[in-house]
Amino acid sequence: MNGPGRCPDCRKPVLWTRTLPGATTAGGKRLAVDPVPDAAGNTAVRRDGTTAWVSRRVTEQQPLMGYERLHKPHVATCPAQQPQLPLQATDTPGRPRQGALPEGVIRLDDRRRRRRP
Ligand SMILES: [Zn+2]
Repeated sequence: MNGPGRCPDCRKPVLWTRTLPGATTAGGKRLAVDPVPDAAGNTAVRRDGTTAWVSRRVTEQQPLMGYERLHKPHVATCPAQQPQLPLQATDTPGRPRQGALPEGVIRLDDRRRRRRP
């Protein structure tokens, strides 16, 4: 799929693009970006010919060109993705988990301990 579509996770409108080869990526993957350009984004999007939408990461070496528009990758704003981020960060092995959770979040371990008689 290429062009306007919907996010399979949150059903919001997105723009499906094909990634161009970059400094660290081979390209050719599908990337959903938010359909409305955003100056705070890091992804340059343009139309390749008349049909395909392509995207690439904007870097210092490869700044935004006049024929491109700056978008945010949809994963950065997708509501279905947001809750997972802080929890994954606390599970890094070998790092102390204490204090890593946001305020008001109960640690599963603490809850289990409290349930025991
Ligand atoms: Zn989404």
